[in-house]
Amino acid sequence: MIAHNLVYHRPETIGEALGAFAGAEAEGLKPYYLAGGTEITTFSRRGLITPGALIDLKTIPECRVLTRREGSAVFGAGLTLNEVGECPFFPLLSEAAGIVDHTVRNRLTLGGNIAGMLPYRETVLPFLLTDTAARLAGPGGEREVPLADIFSRRLKLKPGEFLVQLRVPEAEAGLPWFRRRRVKQSRLDYPLLTICALAARDGIRLALSGVFDSPVRSPEVEAVLNDRSLEPARRAETAAAAFGLRARDDQRGSAQYREMLLLRGLEETIRELGGEG
Ligand SMILES: Cc1cc2nc3c(=O)[nH]c(=O)nc-3n(C[C@H](O)[C@H](O)[C@H](O)COP(=O)(O)OP(=O)(O)OC[C@H]3O[C@@H](n4cnc5c(N)ncnc54)[C@H](O)[C@@H]3O)c2cc1C
Repeated sequence: MIAHNLVYHRPETIGEALGAFAGAEAEGLKPYYLAGGTEITTFSRRGLITPGALIDLKTIPECRVLTRREGSAVFGAGLTLNEVGECPFFPLLSEAAGIVDHTVRNRLTLGGNIAGMLPYRETVLPFLLTDTAARLAGPGGEREVPLADIFSRRLKLKPGEFLVQLRVPEAEAGLPWFRRRRVKQSRLDYPLLTICALAARDGIRLALSGVFDSPVRSPEVEAVLNDRSLEPARRAETAAAAFGLRARDDQRGSAQYREMLLLRGLEETIRELGGEG
């Protein structure tokens, strides 16, 4: 529960949601879009945010879409991680949605995981590996943009905008995949390392979370991973260095430990998807 007064809206259309957001702002109430509410509740309790109005996106039909359409798989931002996990359209995404436990996954949503404030955002990784289009709604209307154009460390939305859907070409969603997730103790922990990778015609595509301060996909790293002039072990070592970022260092794991996991993870990825036999 959130221990201060706020206004709750349950819009049934995109237009009503945008209207509620604008209306709350006009009244001087700080509005937040609400999905599963797990992060909003926790952050409110800790006093990190003080929402004046919550606009629930879960009853908007477009946010609940899960379908195949015109060669694409379409995922509504309001789907729970269980719904995403049980869907066969994009196997790597289903696997990536397998965080925490089944009960919590009934609350956590795709949009909340990707747009939220926690740094892991594991479900964005498969989308970053494909030509995913993001459908957004905001005060200026609706727009569809390549996800890669609006995701850099985090989702960069315009004021008042929300994520409606993500659309992935089916040809990419069906590519051979690899995922490796490393945690400190139980599989319910936040990740020390999560690697998601696809084997495309042009080589391995790889994105990861947990090691650095935010999810990352790097063309420089992929160039090294796919450089067959290097021995696999040397390739993994050079690719790890090519991130050029400092590993996180916290109570879950030291930077040195994360770097070791990263190196092992890259070696495994090359072994699994690099056709090294
Ligand atoms: C017990 C637990 C364990 C977790 N472990 C992991 C983990 O291992 N890996 C990992 O990646 N994450 C993990 N998380 C983080 C979690 O995935 C996100 O915090 C969560 O998904 C938020 O989803 P929600 O639907 O509850 O978001 P909410 O709390 O409803 O919203 C979170 C934020 O996102 C914004 N938002 C929500 N939907 C949209 C949208 N469609 N468009 C724009 N903005 C939006 C909200 O305004 C708010 O700022 C964990 C969370 C919990 C509670």
